[in-house]
Amino acid sequence: MDLFEYQARDVFERHGVPVLRGVVATTPQEARDAAEQLGGGVVVVKAQVKTGGRGKAGGVKVAKGPEEAQAHAEAILGMDIKGHTVHRVMVAEGASIAEEYYFSILLDRSERRYLAMASVEGGVEIEQLAVERPEALARVAVDPRTGVDRAKAEEIADAAGFGADVREQAVEAFQKLWTVYREEDATLVEVNPLVRTESGDVIALDGKVTLDENAAFRHEDHAQLEDAEAADPLEAKAKAKGLNYVKLDGEVGIIGNGAGLVMSTLDVVAYAGEAHGVKPANFLDIGGGASAQVMADGLDVILGDDQVRSVFVNVFGGITSCDAVANGIVSALQMLGDSATKPLVVRLDGNNVVEGRRILDEAAHPLVTLVDTMDGAAAKAAELAAAK
Ligand code: GDP
Ligand code: MN
Repeated sequence: MDLFEYQARDVFERHGVPVLRGVVATTPQEARDAAEQLGGGVVVVKAQVKTGGRGKAGGVKVAKGPEEAQAHAEAILGMDIKGHTVHRVMVAEGASIAEEYYFSILLDRSERRYLAMASVEGGVEIEQLAVERPEALARVAVDPRTGVDRAKAEEIADAAGFGADVREQAVEAFQKLWTVYREEDATLVEVNPLVRTESGDVIALDGKVTLDENAAFRHEDHAQLEDAEAADPLEAKAKAKGLNYVKLDGEVGIIGNGAGLVMSTLDVVAYAGEAHGVKPANFLDIGGGASAQVMADGLDVILGDDQVRSVFVNVFGGITSCDAVANGIVSALQMLGDSATKPLVVRLDGNNVVEGRRILDEAAHPLVTLVDTMDGAAAKAAELAAAK
């Protein structure tokens, strides 16, 4: 989950990273009040959208006082930045910038460790810098066992060439930012720019934080950071039911057990769908167990997707055998009653498959078609989705 800048600012502040005060506003009047609240002096009005390059797009504007802050908010609210509509701005205390630096920590999956990057040439052109003059962007490997301790922070500062006047402050800031990364279970913490102000303070002026949703269980406070407005309603419903569901743009609903099987089902349906002009509508892994309730919840979410025209249930019986899954499907259809309206193609294989198929045959539900092979079932589901 990506955070908005104002949320990242709050998290930074809690962990002792030097930041400036900021107040969120959703109307020009609120922006004016916020500027007043911040002392009536120079402020920066910043679009809160989860994409970079706001500065270049005109979404970051310095205002001399409350009046100008209101005018800037007027212009920025409602603006479209790379497909993101601006619904809020952050009014932040203004800083007089002497120098702009760059710092980030991220997960380096291929090296199985973390990577810290830093540059004394930060600011809005960092991507360009990374391409044109990679030597100006220091890349320092971070061992997960030791993290960014003082020695590592000094190594990063020196590799990037931070001057003696700011080195100590930068070293402190890197360690604090590491604390954010570590304690919040982030997969990315990026500060661009980290600045030196005219008065000599090193401050994080922008923040980008991505939190690892797999660690949500140990951060009760992370749920409130979610952007409820932006969440897909079907994904929200699935999440509430504890289902592993991702909405996609297609017509064939997919239910399977095991992430690997579901991923390959998506591939097979995408392939079979080419001939019919249809695509997979979602990822849904019901995991082990596959009780009638889980099956009903899964079907309920998928059938709630107006784009869906057929559903492919692809289950490989393991510890939960095929007869249990078949009973689950039959009961789920009973539970859903008239709200189950779209054809289901079921492919069962694995543990106790003969009994599983017998149960479905016997139930002879008018919406259910049983197909023996995965490819055959994918083709049938694609054909049914294209039929109506
Ligand atoms: P981004 O373009 O989305 O990365 O937004 P940033 O928050 O990084 O802002 C872009 C640029 O605006 C920064 O690199 C700064 O040059 C400038 N900026 C941001 N805050 C201030 C501020 O308080 N004072 C001044 N003078 N410039 C600022
Ligand atoms: Mn930035």
